[in-house]
Amino acid sequence: MGRFYITTPIYYPNADPHMGHAYTTVFADSMARYHRLLGDETFFLTGTDEHGLKLQRAAEKAGMDPKSFVDRMAEKFKRYWAMLDISYDRFIRTTDPDHEEVVKRAATEMYRRGYIYKGRYAGWYCVSCEKFYSEGEYVVVEGRPYCPIHMKPLEWVEEDTYYFRMSEFQDYVLHVLEEEGRVYPEQYAREVASKIRREGLRDVSIARPRERVSWGVVAPFDQDYTIYVWFDALLNYLTGASYQSDPDRFQRLWPSAHHVIGKDILWFHTAVWFSMLRALDLDPPKKVIVHAFLINRGLKMGKSAGNVVTIEYLLQRYHGSDGARYILMRIFNPAKDVEFTQDMLDSIYNSELADTYGNLARRVGVLAQKKLQGHVHGGRLDPSLEQSIERAINQYIKHMDEYRIQEALHSVMNLLREANAYINKTRPWEKEDPTRELYSLLETLRSATIMLSPVIPRAAHRLATAIGTKIESLEDAQPRPDRVYTVREAPILFRKIGRG
Ligand SMILES: [Zn+2]
Repeated sequence: MGRFYITTPIYYPNADPHMGHAYTTVFADSMARYHRLLGDETFFLTGTDEHGLKLQRAAEKAGMDPKSFVDRMAEKFKRYWAMLDISYDRFIRTTDPDHEEVVKRAATEMYRRGYIYKGRYAGWYCVSCEKFYSEGEYVVVEGRPYCPIHMKPLEWVEEDTYYFRMSEFQDYVLHVLEEEGRVYPEQYAREVASKIRREGLRDVSIARPRERVSWGVVAPFDQDYTIYVWFDALLNYLTGASYQSDPDRFQRLWPSAHHVIGKDILWFHTAVWFSMLRALDLDPPKKVIVHAFLINRGLKMGKSAGNVVTIEYLLQRYHGSDGARYILMRIFNPAKDVEFTQDMLDSIYNSELADTYGNLARRVGVLAQKKLQGHVHGGRLDPSLEQSIERAINQYIKHMDEYRIQEALHSVMNLLREANAYINKTRPWEKEDPTRELYSLLETLRSATIMLSPVIPRAAHRLATAIGTKIESLEDAQPRPDRVYTVREAPILFRKIGRG
């Protein structure tokens, strides 16, 4: 049995999650469900990043204390994930006591080893990013430095701080990036490596004076300081795997860690995170899976760009979680930004879910009931369909194992298109005993349904029940001659959507 530990970024709960958050989270969820189907010991972690100045200010603005504010937001995130059928095993919050304990222990350990030292910091700072910007990184508007992401003026901040001695790890991080294949797609590893080769890996500030930022974990080496929010947040991946609290579990899970992230947080999840782990004598995660952005009306989707597509909208337009999940995974692209339009999403939903999968399920169900009273006994499958099923499974597994979910879905859709063509060609409604045709079709439908189940769990379950089977393992997707189907209904799984 394999093991699979997968994480999403912990989200900043200063606003409701939107389509961009769903893009990342549904992908991680689909991967987790796929590994459960393989029988792997699977652990899926998501959560919220609840500390820092930005939240402290958001809470003030809402007239709340920070803890009540993040309590409310964490509940909201959980409600959205429930609506999208996100099957996380733990929802971690950086205010959880076991996480704060991990942050303190990790910081103490690094301090003890000489990787944390006191210094002074001065620079241009964006409160929204909670990040200092150096010259060349910020943009200049009317002679003033502005945040390139938020297009707001930066604040000049000068203060005593503590540094993490990241420069120590430059050779190590370059080695991991260039030799170990831990970043997918590889282009992102090359991008970070060339930035390090150009600029070097510099020490980073990991603490802020408590008088400036009070909302966070107190630095264990100096009570007047708060641990910087990024340092705190990254460590959640260790907390989720029971770092230090359950060494056996940690030994089991950590070597299979997969972090799913957007490319905007690539630097932190490679250069910074690999260095921090090394400072703790820990291996880097097995894989950092990076995806590019969703582009709507020419801009990266985000609150500040004002082009957010809400999760409510997706659920309503695509008739519930399965439709929304499917279109997100069908356009999922790690390497390139995806510019989507409503027409494009509608047409994916209509042509693939409604006309191809839904239509096949409906036709086979109706025919099985009409011609065979719902009882379809096994026998030899049509060899052409049997081969197509086997080929589709092989392609599907290969793509899923390589995180290429869009391609995996294409393989299943091709199989389903073939099955629709097979009905048209063999015309089982004209046959006196179409057992062989319908059995071959039910085997195809069953196999495709198992493969689609990580992405559309509800519809898959509904179809499986309708034809009298269960979705238990990927193993069951293989065609066999000796099954018996009891078709109870011919469900309409996906209603088509009209224009407008
Ligand atoms: Zn900013």
